[in-house]
Amino acid sequence: MQKILLVEDEPNIARFVELELSHEGYEVVKSADGRAGLELAEKGGFDLVLLDIMLPGISGLEVLRRLRRQSEVPVIMLTARDAVTDKVTGLDMGADDYITKPFSIEELLARIRTALRKKGAKALPRLSFGPLVMDIARHTVEADGEPVELTGREFSLLQALMENPGIVLSRETLMDRVWGYNFVGETNLVDVYIRYLRAKIAVKTPRRLIQTIRGVGYVLREEPGDASCDG
Ligand code: CA
Repeated sequence: MQKILLVEDEPNIARFVELELSHEGYEVVKSADGRAGLELAEKGGFDLVLLDIMLPGISGLEVLRRLRRQSEVPVIMLTARDAVTDKVTGLDMGADDYITKPFSIEELLARIRTALRKKGAKALPRLSFGPLVMDIARHTVEADGEPVELTGREFSLLQALMENPGIVLSRETLMDRVWGYNFVGETNLVDVYIRYLRAKIAVKTPRRLIQTIRGVGYVLREEPGDASCDG
């Protein structure tokens, strides 16, 4: 069972997140205080740390700074909306990701899975879904055994989808992933790149893998009935 440390002083958020993560099969240890959270994190044994920034005792950023002296455990910061400075500082200090409050549990779970996969990526730098195989270390993608030539952005976009198969990712999430949190641009840029990606994959395989969820975003999922076309 994977063990997550949750450092969060808002009892409602902490309870809710604990409940949902436990439901998903994670073991959760909670701390409502920066100093106590740091002590727990330093003892080790966690697969991931969820770290609020505004904490009593010492701030989440300070917890992160001290923790990084001795630990490479994946850390996802929980930040307030518009706290851009905190996000930048957190990432500079070695946070793996951040998520802005209020967040949906699906989004948090997706971020956690991604962070945990990245942690294990050195051992297993390949992702696969249906006919798609992505080698992260070599930066290559194959569909039905045929190489698919992708640009850096297209590769990052497909990687985000392949790291979260079956999970609907919003345009905003994909923007953050591929263009960065401080990129200012229209989210329809995502639609444009999804189109490129679909076209390049379609040349190699007839299976439709990237689905549009209208008004929400995109998901990597095989359409029902596609499998019967395999022959
Ligand atoms: Ca707080």
